[in-house]
This record gives sequence, structure tokens and C-alpha cells, in this order.
Amino acid sequence: MTQHLLEIIYLIASVTFIVGIKFLGNPATARKGNLIAAFGMTIAIFGTIFLYEHNGAHLHNLPWIFGGLLVGTVLGFVAAKKVQMTAMPEMVSLFNGMGGACAMLISIIEFQHLNGTSLVGLEGKVFIILVGMIIGSVSFSGSMIAWGKLSGNVKDKSFGQQQFINIGLLLVILVLAYLTVMGNEANTQMFFFLVLVLSLLYGVLFVMPIGGADMPVVISLLNSFTGVAAACGGFLYGNKVMLVGGILVGSAGTLLTIVMCKAMNRSLLNVLIGNFGGGSTGAAATSASFAGSIKEVSASDAAILMRYAKKVIIVPGYGLAVAQAQHVVHDLELLLESEGVEVKYAIHPVAGRMPGHMNVLLAESNVSYDKLVEMEEINPEFNTTDVVLVVGANDVVNPAAKTDPNSPIFGMPILDVENAANVIVNKRSMKAGYAGIENELFFKPKTSMLFGDAKKALTELVSEIKALG
Ligand code: NDP
Repeated sequence: MTQHLLEIIYLIASVTFIVGIKFLGNPATARKGNLIAAFGMTIAIFGTIFLYEHNGAHLHNLPWIFGGLLVGTVLGFVAAKKVQMTAMPEMVSLFNGMGGACAMLISIIEFQHLNGTSLVGLEGKVFIILVGMIIGSVSFSGSMIAWGKLSGNVKDKSFGQQQFINIGLLLVILVLAYLTVMGNEANTQMFFFLVLVLSLLYGVLFVMPIGGADMPVVISLLNSFTGVAAACGGFLYGNKVMLVGGILVGSAGTLLTIVMCKAMNRSLLNVLIGNFGGGSTGAAATSASFAGSIKEVSASDAAILMRYAKKVIIVPGYGLAVAQAQHVVHDLELLLESEGVEVKYAIHPVAGRMPGHMNVLLAESNVSYDKLVEMEEINPEFNTTDVVLVVGANDVVNPAAKTDPNSPIFGMPILDVENAANVIVNKRSMKAGYAGIENELFFKPKTSMLFGDAKKALTELVSEIKALG
């Protein structure tokens, strides 16, 4: 009876995961989607703790289980409450690494249960244990390196022939895994732990050379690895909710990886071996020399230009998030609209530092979703636009992506802001953006620079427009 109840709970939980993901597809319902899936996960966890039975026995070690749950919940809650929006990818990476570590530990423990028994006839089980462990440990150590890179504590590092060494290492892992399943019984433990250590090392070497700007793609890929590793755990225990959850994470992570690669117009292979945006800040940033000069604009002149425009497009970027200027940019939008100006936001898929960063940020200040227009849709509109206001964006409006084959961002689709009649760029200095390269847009005759922190500059702009009456 309790087993049937548990199966029903697992079924409900699996449905909540799918509904949750569906709701996450839209900023308006994303929060609800998260709560629905979290509810499903909660009933699955408590259902397992209290109803799961194996050979007539329930789970024991309850103090350990609840102790772990308590520590994890408190740490997760505090970390999620405290995290800055701009540090979100780091946290996702850290949490993803913990998922990989769990899958790795499950495999280690399950393999120890087989210690001393002949593996003949258990090859299938050992295979699943190994797959879960290899993928889980690669995901764990890789995510830790990704976390270190995003927080600036680990620098990109590659050495000659690294790709060959990585491939060689992977082959050694596969051979040792084969020997663990098929080899001499006396050596299986040794082979197993060698596979573990080398998989951890592989995770480090795999992520180490990948450029900083590609980290979100890598995190998404590692996320899908963790899903597959968790699904292996589901197989191992015959636990359907773990299987469904793992497969959903695995496939969602893979889809997100593909979508992000498309947004940057790059293949996954190119991301994994291309080293885009890695540590190039400085060299490229200072070597460019563009025709034209920088033209500054005062807040009052910018106010006049925008107040008497018919159509204004705002391009938000990473700097908007740094300055936390999402509320004042919304005030500016409402003010211009009250003066009869049409205002839209142009959203580049990789603006900011995580997928959907600008959508989340602007949703925080209640900007209406229909004002956020995606790149493909807004690009044809720039040539009918009077003023584009670029706020803390740089790489996503850099024409080098189209014109300079030597640029590290060459091929990435960008927002065609230079097609507008006037471009006002707000940033604090002439410093480069994430990819570390200079931007010719800032030197174009129709571009004017409005220097200053975004929040301060936009606040001033708002009061200047108000002063115009
Ligand atoms: P960029 O990083 O290219 O540029 C941001 C600009 O904002 C900087 O040039 C900086 O100039 C300015 N800035 C910083 N702080 C402030 C502030 N307080 N007020 C005003 N301006 C400020 O950002 P984009 O959004 O244009 O591009 C995103 C980049 O990040 C792309 O290269 C993308 O590939 C990469 N990336 C994207 C991720 C994603 O998933 N979205 C994740 C990780 C990287 P200054 O210092 O002069 O003020």
C-alpha cells in the first residue's frame, strides 16, 4: 500500500517538474514554476524518507538525513537570499557542482556495497555506477573551476597540446572503467578509484582553458552532465522521480547549451576549444585605433534629444545590472512615454552575465514584458529610430562582430544600433566590456558618450527631461 502511495507521489512530483519547466519559459510565470517544481521535489523527498521500503525495512539513519537536509536548506536559503544578481552564474555553478558531487558519492557508496562480491552478472549495475561517477565527478570538479573563474579567483590556463592530453585522459578513463567492470576481481577497487581521481582531474583540465565569456555555455553543459549523472542514480535505485528529474535537467541543459551557442553564432566545439574572451582584456583593448574621435554629451543635451524624439530604443547591458539602474531606467521610459515618445528595450540574448539577465533585471522594476523586444525582431527597427540609448552595454553593440574577422567576437550577432539616427552610450569610462576589446561604435560620428555610473547618469537625465516641462 505505502509503495503504491509512493509511486503516486513520484508521479505527481514528475508532473510538477514538467509543469515547472513550462512555467519557467516566461518571466511572468517563472516564479510560480519554480515553486511548483520545488513543491514536487519536497513531496518526493519526504515520501521517500517516510514511505520507501526495501525488503520490508524503512530508511534508517534519520538523524543524519534530517541533519543534512537542515544544513543544506539553511546554506542554500542564506546564499540565495544574499547573492547579487550579477553573481548568479557563480552560484548556479556552485550548486550544480554540488549535484555532481552527490551523484559521484552515490556511485562510490553503491560500489562499496559490492566490495567483496563477484561482479559477474552485475556488469550492468557496475556500468551504471561508473557512468554516474565519471559524469558526476567531471561535473563537480568542472563546476568548481567554472565557479572560481566567474568569481575571478581562477584564471584561464591552457598549455600546448592540451586538447590531445584531454582526449588521451578520457581514453585512459574509459579503459580503466572497462577494466573495473570486466577485469580481475582483485584489482577492481584500485581501477575504480583511479577512474574517480582521473575523472576529477579531467573536469579541471576540461574547463581550465575555456574563456571566461564562454563560462555560461559551459555551466549549462555541466548542468546537463549533472542531470545525466542523477538519472544514473535513478536507474540504480529504480527510482522513477530521480530518473525523470535527471533526464529533464539533462535535456533542458543540453537545449540551453544549444540555444546559447546559437545566440553567439558559434558551434559547441568552438566554445570548448576556442578560448573566446579569455584573458584578452588589455592587449586588444589598447591596440585598436579607430578613425574619428570621442564626442561627449551632457545630460541636458541628451535630455533634449530624447524628449523631442519620436522613437527611442534603450539597449540595456551588464553595466545596468552593476549600477542597479533598472528602476530609474523604467522611470525614464514612463516619463518619455508620457511625453508621447515611443520607447522599447532591445534585448540581446547574451547581454549581462547570464541567460535572461536583462529580462529578469527589468522585470524587477515592473517593465512591461511587451516592451522587451528580442534582437532579431528589433534589429530592423533601428533605422526608423531617432535615439538609441545604450546603458552599460558594450560587446553586444560592437560592430567588430560583423566587420573584423580577427575579433574574438567575430560572428556573434549584435544589435545594429548604428542604424539609428543618434546613439547615446552611457558607461563610466572608455574601458572594454567582457570580451576585452575596443568598440568602434564609440568613435562613430553619430555616437555621443554620456559618461558616468548608469544610475547617477539616468537619474540626472530624468530630472533634465522633467525640467524641460
Ligand atoms: P559588456 O561586459 O560587454 O560591457 C559592459 C559595460 O558596462 C562595460 O564596458 C562597462 O564600461 C559598463 N559598466 C560597468 N559598470 C557600469 C556602471 N555602473 N554604469 C555604467 N556602465 C557600467 O556587457 P554586455 O552586456 O554588452 O555584453 C555581455 C558580455 O558578457 C558579452 O561578451 C557576453 O558574451 C558575455 N557574457 C554573457 C553572459 C550571458 O549569459 N549573458 C555570461 C557571461 C559573459 P565602464 O567600465 O567604462 O563603465
